Amino acid sequence: MFNIILFGPPGSGKGTQSENLIRKYGLKHLSTGDLLRSEISRQTPLGTEAKNFMDKGQLVPDEVVIGMISSALDTNPQAVGFLFDGFPRTEAQAEALDKLLKLKNTEIHVVLALQVSEGELVKRLLGRGLTSGRSDDTNEEVIRARIHEYNKKTSVVADYYGRFDKVKKIEGEGSVDDIFTALCKEINLQ
Ligand code: ADP
Repeated sequence: MFNIILFGPPGSGKGTQSENLIRKYGLKHLSTGDLLRSEISRQTPLGTEAKNFMDKGQLVPDEVVIGMISSALDTNPQAVGFLFDGFPRTEAQAEALDKLLKLKNTEIHVVLALQVSEGELVKRLLGRGLTSGRSDDTNEEVIRARIHEYNKKTSVVADYYGRFDKVKKIEGEGSVDDIFTALCKEINLQ
């Protein structure tokens, strides 16, 4: 198995590049944001709980997303590897993921960290809000709250994997193709 974390703040391009990467490398895409939005649209109890946090730009509680990822890993035993997008977002999630992967005799091989300035993030998210139908992209206050959550709780995840020398920084501003090429170069070096 070959497992990647695509890491970066909201609006850094994780969703866009994930699509390209899973196509090229045949990985199973696990996006906690997508999984949560699917729970919301199916109006499950988990979705209803998660929506309260997401609407405010806050992180959903760790146990909720860890449970979702745990069952996604169990339901994809044939995967050649996983691409984690938007997960882990806290150190507790990173520790839980390491344990879950260890149980499957595998690990995270590389964390690709997209680097994008805050001004560019806000611009992109507001732009996406015009067409995405995502309510958390239309309100600048919610966008700033998400970036604040990232700085407060998520950026430490890079330090966590940095201790195992697994983090590769990738310039996240530029053309989608150039960024994709930079990501692939790093993966091919692994
Ligand atoms: P973005 O990265 O652009 O904010 P996502 O789709 O990854 O978009 O996440 C949308 C929202 O879903 C987040 O603001 C957060 O509320 C929730 N969420 C997604 N993944 C996680 C996670 N791993 N832990 C906690 N909350 C999460």
